[in-house]
Amino acid sequence: MKIDIQKLVRKNILNLKPYSSARDEFEGENGIFLDANENPFGVLNRYPDPYQKRIKQKLSVINQISADNIFLGNGSDEVIDLAFRIFCEPGEDKVLTFSPTYGMYEVSANINDVELINLDLNNNFQINLETFKPYLNDENLKIIFICSPNNPTGNSIQNIEYILENFNGIIFIDEAYIDFSPEESFKNKIKKYPNLIVSQTFSKAWGMASVRVGIAYASEEIIKFYNKTKPPYNISQLNQNEVLNALNDENIRLVQDDIKLILNEKKLLIQSLKELKLVKKIFPSDANFILIEVENADLIYQKLVEENVIVRNRNSVIKNCLRVTVGSPEENLKLIETLKSII
Ligand SMILES: *Cc1c(COP(=O)(O)O)cnc(C)c1O
Repeated sequence: MKIDIQKLVRKNILNLKPYSSARDEFEGENGIFLDANENPFGVLNRYPDPYQKRIKQKLSVINQISADNIFLGNGSDEVIDLAFRIFCEPGEDKVLTFSPTYGMYEVSANINDVELINLDLNNNFQINLETFKPYLNDENLKIIFICSPNNPTGNSIQNIEYILENFNGIIFIDEAYIDFSPEESFKNKIKKYPNLIVSQTFSKAWGMASVRVGIAYASEEIIKFYNKTKPPYNISQLNQNEVLNALNDENIRLVQDDIKLILNEKKLLIQSLKELKLVKKIFPSDANFILIEVENADLIYQKLVEENVIVRNRNSVIKNCLRVTVGSPEENLKLIETLKSII
């Protein structure tokens, strides 16, 4: 199956002459820079590298993926939004996702005036292939969003390979929680599937949510369209510096240790939750959060808030369910103590 990425791209993006920044036209490090109307005084006076080459170089070495297969966004939310802007003709094209899932696919679809097809996950929060199959032939279906491990359910999604083998549009796999999961990342399959975008983020396992940097791994062709469409200086120098500092061997070991600690805390938290009568069900999780079903989610959520413990009330999406992020040992203890006091 040969997929022509250009055929999937919107005509205006295909023909777009991108903004050419001063930093595009001259790339050297040394010189007297009188080309960008910057102020010669100050410390943050220069525009940042528009393509964040030093970060990509490091990510390339760490992940054994060419820098040409990497895009960096202002959070993965920008990576998601750009997918709409590159591939979806407003008022014409469609995207598909499996709910309940991350809310940004729908918000981005609405902002870009693109129809979103929402297929329900089954009782185990897995894709129902039989109801999905008819959509494989929809000419206007441009992107399928799959979040795995899925937010807010926590489980890894099965049968993704089937979709990769059978869909000719773009498959966007959101792996925001992959570092907590025993499953292997799909980023190693971008060579096999030129229509695959795998997004990851520095916001969760890396502990850098305030820095706002997300990653996309994809074929060189897709990455080129991302670079062409993005705002020229989408990642500030301050944010680039933070990520560069984080990408060293010692810090990577610290991040791995934190992940182990969080996963161990998750195990303890699940044990404690199991002993509580008001917890009706604990759903399996490959992420750093747990979805639980309780007797009366609205009430329990409110009681927790009164005690200054904030969880995510998902009652409107999955009846009587709360999503609980695994916190520090002290925070988790406080959650359990508070839940006990509610009984
Ligand atoms: C938290 C989260 C993200 C992260 O978004 P950023 O913009 O990178 O902070 C992406 N996808 C999902 C499913 C998430 O839960």
